[in-house]
Amino acid sequence: MEMRIAKKLNIETSLLGFGCMRLPMKDGVIDYAETERMLDTAWDAGVNYFDTAYVYHGGKSEGVMGPILKKHPRDKFYVADKMPVWLPKTPDDLDRIFNEQLERLGLDYIDFYLMHSMTTEHWADVQRLDMLRFAEKKRAEGKIKYIGFSFHDTPELFAEIVDAYDWDFAQIQYNYLDDKGQRAEELYKMLEDRGLFTVVMEPVRGGDLASLPDQAGNLLKQTAPDRSLASWALRYVGSKPGVNVILSGMSDPAQVRDNLQTFSHFDPLDKQERAVLAQAVDVLAQIPQIACTGCQYCMPCPVGVDIPGNFDFYNSIQKFGANPGRVRRWGMLDKKYDACVACGACLSKCPQHLAIPDELKKLADVAAALHG
Ligand code: SF4
Ligand code: SF4
Repeated sequence: MEMRIAKKLNIETSLLGFGCMRLPMKDGVIDYAETERMLDTAWDAGVNYFDTAYVYHGGKSEGVMGPILKKHPRDKFYVADKMPVWLPKTPDDLDRIFNEQLERLGLDYIDFYLMHSMTTEHWADVQRLDMLRFAEKKRAEGKIKYIGFSFHDTPELFAEIVDAYDWDFAQIQYNYLDDKGQRAEELYKMLEDRGLFTVVMEPVRGGDLASLPDQAGNLLKQTAPDRSLASWALRYVGSKPGVNVILSGMSDPAQVRDNLQTFSHFDPLDKQERAVLAQAVDVLAQIPQIACTGCQYCMPCPVGVDIPGNFDFYNSIQKFGANPGRVRRWGMLDKKYDACVACGACLSKCPQHLAIPDELKKLADVAAALHG
């Protein structure tokens, strides 16, 4: 197993981290037996970093993962868990949630404790209830080892947060498709410059990069017929020297096997492979897209259409097909394309000059295709 030494924290973690947010399901609940087999297989291969959160699987992930890990010596594995910063309303809520987390896990302490999903609003929540002081108190009590945050917002906010506190680590979304477009590379660089322990999430972009369209995927397959598409995405991130842990939310034994193959004999991408990957990214970039940047200037729409959410869905479908998770999330959008009344209020606000009501009509074709 590829291991990474974190000098500042004086620890060694497996480069592959087991994300427990998409565990296998059976009859509507987490399949405990299958999960145990998968975690055991990962453990036997040397994985020692396991990531969960209070809200994963509707609050059930911690209670499944903790007891399975407890079979092993406590000082041999690292558990990451997260405070759902948007839930607590009073200081007492912080204690209640934290104690519940320890109880669900069945552990005395959490190694890596994150402020979950920092955005402008969530960062304000952290400050309002002084959650970092709370975390420090728990660290002093020996119930937390390292304090960090996970992030889902702009590099500008990231720069503010990363320098606002003496963090031990941070978790960022990073993959070969979002490094430039979504400016993920800037986040990575900020962490690398500060020598902070770096955890990467969504390295395969929620499964997108494991199911590339043929014109891009074939380039990778021809170069390395024995390697999976997912392995390219993982090796891209793992080739960055400042990355300590790459989380993969594994849902079935085949994914565990494939990931272990990638990380058991880890090869960083070589020059030729990087060139082929860049070619595949160029091919993806040529797939026609609605030129929405997600800036949100057009929002709110008076009738509540989630304009960028719909465009993002459309663009992703064109590139990666109907990934079930994506279709489900789109189905959950409050108001979809068909609520648009063509009032035109959004038109002058769009810096990309998109004909928004007309572009939204393209979603009708997607919906028709999805519903057969
Ligand atoms: S044109 Fe459609 S999407 Fe734009 S503001 Fe009006 S209702 Fe909303
Ligand atoms: S203003 Fe234009 S580019 Fe920005 S989110 Fe709305 S549609 Fe997209």
